[in-house]
Amino acid sequence: MLLVIAVFSFLGWGYSGSRVSPAQAILPLSGIIIGVDPGHGGYDPGSSRGDIIEKDVVLQIALYLRDYLQQAGGLVVMTRDEDVDLLEIPAGPKKDRDFQNRKKIIEDSGADLLISIHANAITSSQWRGAQVFYQEGSEEGRLLASAIQYEMSRVLKNTDRQIKSSNFFMLREISAKAVIVEVGFLTNPEEADLLCSPDYQKKLAWSIYVGIINYLSQ
Ligand SMILES: [Zn+2]
Repeated sequence: MLLVIAVFSFLGWGYSGSRVSPAQAILPLSGIIIGVDPGHGGYDPGSSRGDIIEKDVVLQIALYLRDYLQQAGGLVVMTRDEDVDLLEIPAGPKKDRDFQNRKKIIEDSGADLLISIHANAITSSQWRGAQVFYQEGSEEGRLLASAIQYEMSRVLKNTDRQIKSSNFFMLREISAKAVIVEVGFLTNPEEADLLCSPDYQKKLAWSIYVGIINYLSQ
């Protein structure tokens, strides 16, 4: 499933045509293609606590993020915009197929950036806080992660976590500058409640969005 949402088509901008029109030039994300990847979905719930399920929480945040990016003139490509998995490639273990299809959607779109959104879970309930991961060795990934982490700390006022390098599939295998945003811990009761709140979900999406804008203007 490829969901390409072309915004501002009323400006006469076509996918294969000129990417910049005078009216678009004032929008900060004009001509930028951003992949948004809500983790898990369908058969794969991700982590959970009671009836709070990662695949649902991250989808809501991703949809708010999509809206902010589109309002700024960005072309947003989502790996999913509903509760589905991505198993179109017919052979192999489910998780591998799901990852390969996510990769294909992002690569086919020519995305400049990829924001993959997840939520954390751990046995102890004491841990909390949103945190951004980037591919080890990627300077651009580090800069993008820093910009988003800074805004999350500033806007949410409840995380002092620092960015961290890693080697996850969605960072390593994607040519776009990619980060994984872990929006918080479902295993922390207070944070889990926050993550279910539309206001908090919007704050998270907003801080990711502003981080992207700041990264691009560096
Ligand atoms: Zn996850």
